[in-house]
Amino acid sequence: MSPKAQKPAPAETEEAPPELEDLPGVGQATADKLRESGYADLMELAVASPDDVATAADIGEGAAQKIIQEARKRVQVGGFESGSAILERRRKLGRISTLSKALDELLGGGVETQAITEVYGQFGSGKTQLGLQLSASVQLPPDQGGLAGEAVWIDTENTFRAERLAEIAKALGLDPTQALERVHVARAFNSNHQELLVPKAFELARERPVRLLVVDSLTAHFRAEFLGRGALAERQQRLNRHMHELLRFGDVFNAAILCTNQVSARPDVLFGDPTGPIGGNIVGHTATYRIYLRKSKPPRRIARLVDSPNLPEGEAVFSVTGEGIRD
Ligand code: ATP
Ligand code: MG
Repeated sequence: MSPKAQKPAPAETEEAPPELEDLPGVGQATADKLRESGYADLMELAVASPDDVATAADIGEGAAQKIIQEARKRVQVGGFESGSAILERRRKLGRISTLSKALDELLGGGVETQAITEVYGQFGSGKTQLGLQLSASVQLPPDQGGLAGEAVWIDTENTFRAERLAEIAKALGLDPTQALERVHVARAFNSNHQELLVPKAFELARERPVRLLVVDSLTAHFRAEFLGRGALAERQQRLNRHMHELLRFGDVFNAAILCTNQVSARPDVLFGDPTGPIGGNIVGHTATYRIYLRKSKPPRRIARLVDSPNLPEGEAVFSVTGEGIRD
């Protein structure tokens, strides 16, 4: 399935959902292993790849394929859908306001759920600030541009600043202490740890109403660890898998995924563009929306929507102020 193909809708029924153990071929041991790897319900299995499930449960790929097919039948995922069903699912999309009207408009009304939005740009271009703003905005009620939700933040470079988040939240009229309680931050020490934090996020989102997941930065560890041409194929493969796990999170919880990415000073080997985002085409093809940020006359920033399945390319000017992102 191409990364931008339609993804299945999250399960909606409130009746007791079938358990993993209800699937033929899934015993207690397999169910336990699956849960440990973050597959807690049939929906999550239904949208997984046989390869991943085989590794998670320590079973053959054929067996994994059968389990996935069975899960798909039970939660009615994986067949053809009518256009109206797809439209109905798109109606459930949520949007989180960036608090800049111009930037929201560029994005078709804010940062979308069930999608990955990649923001790339130089140091100081406002990527982390945008993540902090959204982590506060997501907590607002829907009529104020939020989703009354919480945020998960995967921090790879130790750049999450609680004081800054409190300041931004306060400017929105939120209680800063409460706002900080609603943002769940984990520091990722290397790329492998970063990947393992995604199943942790799944666990958390089962308990809390998480509607935003920020990965800041998506590529820093991968870039530092996989050096040279020889390591490139593996790096891209790992990044690709990581992003698909993130997308799965977005689908299952109807959450927005924001990934930040630096531009490489030297041409990225795959991208060949001196200001290209790291991870080049792999990241670009998996992200649903790509935004290129650049600095303008302070405090202004220019955002360019580079790639979108349904919106025109364009630019928006916004500011990074003491209160957060504004026009
Ligand atoms: P990097 O690639 O280094 O992570 P970045 O794109 O994440 O960079 P940010 O940290 O989002 O960059 O942006 C930092 C910039 O945001 C500062 O240079 C400053 O211009 C602005 N900024 C940060 N905090 C404030 C504040 N409290 N008031 C006004 N502007 C601020
Ligand atoms: Mg940053």
